[in-house]
Amino acid sequence: MTGRIAAETREGHAVETTATGPYARSEPVRGSEEPDRTKVGAFGLHPDDLSRLSPPNSPAYIFGKLQRVHAHKDGMPDVAVKLRAFLEERLSFTLPRIDAVVRSDDEATKLTLVLDDGLRVEAVHMPRNTRSPRVTLCISSQAGCAMGCTFCATAKMGLVRNLTAHEIVGQVLAVIAALGPADYGRVNLVFMGMGEPLHNVEEVRAAVRVLSDPRGLGIALSRITVSTAGWLPGLVALADDPHRPNLALSMNATTDEARARIMPVAKRWSLAELREVLARIKLRPHEKLLISYVLLAGENDTDADAERLAAFASGLKAIVNVIPWNPVEGAAHAESQRAAEFAKLLHERGALCTVRRNRGRDANAACGQLVQADSALPSRKRRLTVSAR
Ligand code: SF4
Repeated sequence: MTGRIAAETREGHAVETTATGPYARSEPVRGSEEPDRTKVGAFGLHPDDLSRLSPPNSPAYIFGKLQRVHAHKDGMPDVAVKLRAFLEERLSFTLPRIDAVVRSDDEATKLTLVLDDGLRVEAVHMPRNTRSPRVTLCISSQAGCAMGCTFCATAKMGLVRNLTAHEIVGQVLAVIAALGPADYGRVNLVFMGMGEPLHNVEEVRAAVRVLSDPRGLGIALSRITVSTAGWLPGLVALADDPHRPNLALSMNATTDEARARIMPVAKRWSLAELREVLARIKLRPHEKLLISYVLLAGENDTDADAERLAAFASGLKAIVNVIPWNPVEGAAHAESQRAAEFAKLLHERGALCTVRRNRGRDANAACGQLVQADSALPSRKRRLTVSAR
């Protein structure tokens, strides 16, 4: 099925973008009316979970049908009548509804998705048209975020709530159904949208287990990256997980004092504590830890910062990703012009490093720019409470 998705540019011009798939439409999909709380969300269920329902067919068969949403009919897996009735009675098949689509000049597309309680989260679809084309999907793990990083638009929302595994997987399925790719082997997935994934580690782990299972989408763990601002208990939990995806530390400063000024989570756990956990992670062959470093003029971009950052990365099998800051309204930071020079300093000190090409900036879809001002529920809004330990 082909549909047209209504979209609006940042300047407010309405546009439409063509999308394909059973959920490629702007009107509510099945179940987006008042949700039935007695039913379990289907898309976060692994075959092991499905087997506990004692279904009439093989759990692996049902799982495959559930995950391949492009083959769904009327918002449900296309299965025999008896199985359909069984599933319909127990499970909810609501996918997040795509509410708005904004495409940037560089082909990155920001999608606003509405969850079944009306909250909005954002995802970004970034195709790369090389000889081996791939699509990177950046998805959200929470509505809002409690971490309060000063350079990030999402922080302004505070934490509204965690997403369930059903909603996290549903986000991926809804975006793929609308914008592709049909070949799931071409998908890279990054948990770098709204939220601190490790602050919601159990739902994120469950979602990763589902998304990486070869009986469904089968996105390899080596193609999934979870990024953390440094939520230590979640990092410890994920470090020992046999289904661990790649890990990225959003570091952004090289001393605890400087880090605490821009990332309140640094008041709880020091860089030394984070490094200790990272150092004990058993990496897969060819795997590297990712250290993200958003460059802020005059705050974290000095030669001494480059020196300390190279020392932090040394011995970790890590690659540093230097990220030019994407301006966020109201944030008291300035974009550093030193990205290339800073990367050169890191390189000279033996650190592997890249400079990120920012995508989606003109659609407010770039790193740190995702925010839904109208989706926060102030009464439930929470910010990280920091306490010196
Ligand atoms: S940068 Fe990440 S962890 Fe920090 S406030 Fe934004 S979404 Fe949360």
